[in-house]
Amino acid sequence: MKSVYGKLIGGFLITIIFSFFVAGYISLRNNYEQVENRSREELIAANTFLMELMNNSGNINGLEEVIFSYVNSTDLTVSIYRNDFYRVYGDISIAPSKNTLHAMYNNRNTILEINSDIQSFGDLYTIHGSQYYILTQKDISYEKNAFTNSAILIFGSVFLSGSVVFLAIADVIVKPITKLTNATKELSKGNYGVRVNYAGDDEISRLNQGFNQMAQQLAKQEETRQKFISDISHEFQTPLTAIQGFANILKEEDLPEQQREKYADIILFHSKRLSTLSKSMLQLTLLENEDVRLEITNYSISNQLARVISTHENQALLKDIEINFIRPKKEILIDGDEHRLEQVWMNVISNAIKYTENGGLITIRVKKYAKEVEVRVEDTGSGMSKEVVSHIFERFYREDKSRSIEGNGLGLSIVKTIIDLHRGKIDVISQVDVGSTFIIRIPVERSLNLKDRLRSKQEGKK
Ligand code: ADP
Repeated sequence: MKSVYGKLIGGFLITIIFSFFVAGYISLRNNYEQVENRSREELIAANTFLMELMNNSGNINGLEEVIFSYVNSTDLTVSIYRNDFYRVYGDISIAPSKNTLHAMYNNRNTILEINSDIQSFGDLYTIHGSQYYILTQKDISYEKNAFTNSAILIFGSVFLSGSVVFLAIADVIVKPITKLTNATKELSKGNYGVRVNYAGDDEISRLNQGFNQMAQQLAKQEETRQKFISDISHEFQTPLTAIQGFANILKEEDLPEQQREKYADIILFHSKRLSTLSKSMLQLTLLENEDVRLEITNYSISNQLARVISTHENQALLKDIEINFIRPKKEILIDGDEHRLEQVWMNVISNAIKYTENGGLITIRVKKYAKEVEVRVEDTGSGMSKEVVSHIFERFYREDKSRSIEGNGLGLSIVKTIIDLHRGKIDVISQVDVGSTFIIRIPVERSLNLKDRLRSKQEGKK
């Protein structure tokens, strides 16, 4: 009974047997009552008829023929007793003995026995001045059995035909489940291409549809995972090859001092790149962890932007880039993770500097709306095509022309993850050779939980 098939058949059998038991019991009882009532009326009527027949005739012996034919036509058994007179008409085997009748006669017993298969009605009558005991009997077991037999026949035919129909129906239900089970097994073995057919809109079809979506999602995740692994090994491989190559050259003893320093610097540069790469990867993994918690406080975003801009001033100065910060007169406060949002502004502003030619302009605006704060970072840099913009938030994505510029393609993935965690939005408007604008919107108030509010208040007091 472990399979659904077994359970369905078991359920069918239990239902059909239980229903027939209840229905059979009720109709059997009803039928028995009807048979018994009918035969009781028949017995009383027979006794009255016999008594009147004997009353109307002078000689009881002359009635033998009439009583015999009456008994034959009615299936009754009649016993008549009067002192030395004892006659039985019909089935002798069910009639009482002479002595029993004698006792009934003497005791003037009126009997009405209707609860057994042999029903009896006996009474004492005065006919032509003499006392007669007339006992009429009927065997109703045949009538009872006839009903029981037809009930068994009906049960058998319903059971057989029902089983055939039910097996066919069970097959229709169980087959798709079996197919789905097999597909699930395949999926668990790593075959993400497995799909199940579905048509219609019943529960099984919806289950199959859900399974296909799940398999599709898993296939996509697997593809992303493999691409991620190959991207990581590729990103690690380039600096490692450079480090190995230049370390080998450094082993040569007669290398001029100037070259030795140059190669050591290259090794240092690539090891720094590796270190930044592994730090960024760790950061991204931590942010993508399902139970990452933001340290939400209420702080001034305008002050924060001014601070980040001042740390980038040197970098901009080197490329003769002007940074124009349009700061609102009033301070703008925001509920957010200060440390993580600082990382967002750092990445976006340093990208604007990196991808803008010498002498360019970067404009940074911050504005407060009813429900959100908007930060715009606009540059007059290289810009991006629509196709490039659609990929920039993917891990390790770098536009080909950016490859000569230092970077690892993880910065904007980190930015997007942090903004998503703040339930904010990031949009990019860009035009090749004209420039790019990164627009970041963050809700002003987050529903801080009690613990965060307390901590925020305590920090405010300090
Ligand atoms: P990277 O380390 O390469 O800067 P990011 O994830 O920060 O990685 O950016 C991904 C890619 O998006 C960059 O390689 C570059 O091609 C493009 N990009 C990002 N910001 C800008 C910008 N302000 N102007 C033009 N291209 C940009």
